[in-house]
Amino acid sequence: MIVQPKIRGFFCLTAHPAGCAAHVEEQIAWVRARPRIAGPKNVLVVGGSTGYGLASRITAAFACEADTVGVFFEKPPTERKTGTAGWYNTAAFQRAARAAGRKAIGLNGDAFSDEIKTRTVERIREELGQIDLFVYSLASPRRTHPRTGEVARSVIKPIGKPYHGTTLDTDKRCVREVTIEPATPQEIAETVAVMGGEDWEMWIDALRDGGVAGPDLRTVAFTYIGTDVTWPIYWHGTIGKAKEDLDRATRAIRERLTSGTADLGVMKALVTQSSSAIPVVPLYISILYRVMKERGLHEGCIEQIYRLFSTGLYGDGAARDDEGRLRLDDLEMQPDVQQAVKAIWPAVTDENLMEVTDFDGYQEEFLKLFGFGLPAVDYEADVDPVVPLD
Ligand code: NAD
Repeated sequence: MIVQPKIRGFFCLTAHPAGCAAHVEEQIAWVRARPRIAGPKNVLVVGGSTGYGLASRITAAFACEADTVGVFFEKPPTERKTGTAGWYNTAAFQRAARAAGRKAIGLNGDAFSDEIKTRTVERIREELGQIDLFVYSLASPRRTHPRTGEVARSVIKPIGKPYHGTTLDTDKRCVREVTIEPATPQEIAETVAVMGGEDWEMWIDALRDGGVAGPDLRTVAFTYIGTDVTWPIYWHGTIGKAKEDLDRATRAIRERLTSGTADLGVMKALVTQSSSAIPVVPLYISILYRVMKERGLHEGCIEQIYRLFSTGLYGDGAARDDEGRLRLDDLEMQPDVQQAVKAIWPAVTDENLMEVTDFDGYQEEFLKLFGFGLPAVDYEADVDPVVPLD
């Protein structure tokens, strides 16, 4: 099969098996060229097939020489249809990790369910004994509650009043004005149910009750705060309420773990499958990339996660805020960076989009998420879409 990108809005319906593998190998090579980290040895990453979770699995395996279990929700390929990018990423990661002598176990299924939690605990018990790091990196549009069976959907909406602003139409390569009506109380509650901290806490309980949480278990989840540029739609909106709930869950888990600890990493805004779906964020990221690249401050997922491990979780030097969160967004939040973003923001037009923002860089990274645009890959060549995981 010849695999080409089929983009629909903020998603690409196809993924390139060799391209995804090359993207993973790029990240592994980057980590391998860095100093080893005296970090964890047995790691669980929930949401470990793309974005920050995949980078966590790569860093754990190749910087800390850890055995890893990844949980994710990906579509397997068929003879006629490519699988999702996270499927191919995981296949490539697990192949490389095993070749390097590391155990790498993948569990594809709904992380919100009791069933996958039980299966994960069993596999950890059989293969690793106990874990010493648990990375929670889920980003999902919906959740079926394991106890009530209720389906909650997460929405990205402002709270209290409509949001009027500029957004990027990534398909048509133009900017346009949007108005997003405020969320209802029900929508706020559902977004908190999906993207808040309850499921993270349920995972902690399942790991402890199953006897696979090591005595000094560390756990980390990821959040984003941003500045007043994105606050109306992000931090002060429905997703911000869910992230506030993650703050609550961090405190609750800290109390529950007698000798381990829980952290929230505030990460930089980056192109991932999830962030591309948030209105306004692609424009913000296109401007931010421009400003940060000009200053030599740009980082991708792998750089961010390596820095989280080496300076925050297993080293010194990461900044913490008053709430005790690890601030890996420090470079993005630098006043000069934010001032430059704010100066560009109101001036962006269809005509100057390519000059004043890094929309090209945004698009390149977006395509790379699905394995397209990698220099080493021959996109005219026939590829077999069926790639096994184990
Ligand atoms: P992503 O879309 O790249 O990854 C999401 C992961 O969750 C994938 O591995 C996917 O398979 C998995 N997943 C989704 N639904 C699932 C389910 N029901 N069961 C099992 N697995 C499921 O997302 P990301 O951007 O890396 O986000 C991860 C976390 O980082 C989120 O909490 C997000 O808010 C946070 N974060 C992201 C950014 C950013 O700019 N991308 C910035 C700061 C914080």
